[in-house]
Amino acid sequence: MMRNETTGRRADPTRMCVICRGRFPKSALRRHVAAATGDARLVPDPRAVMPGRGHYLCANPECAEKFSKYSGRPRRRRGGNGE
Ligand SMILES: [Zn+2]
Repeated sequence: MMRNETTGRRADPTRMCVICRGRFPKSALRRHVAAATGDARLVPDPRAVMPGRGHYLCANPECAEKFSKYSGRPRRRRGGNGE
């Protein structure tokens, strides 16, 4: 069962860090979007104005490091290579 931990509070909407999958207030995350050029790179979007799917990164330095290798494209899972 899921519980709503924010009952009664109107906090920031939460978003999930794409690396650690932790949930954080949106204001604590850095948004990146995939450039529409076919390039797999994600570009920072500090003002959250760019179209496209947002990828959120938390402030954890480990996540920042992993994020530099993160393409943003969902990998095709082949037989489960583990993550
Ligand atoms: Zn994270």
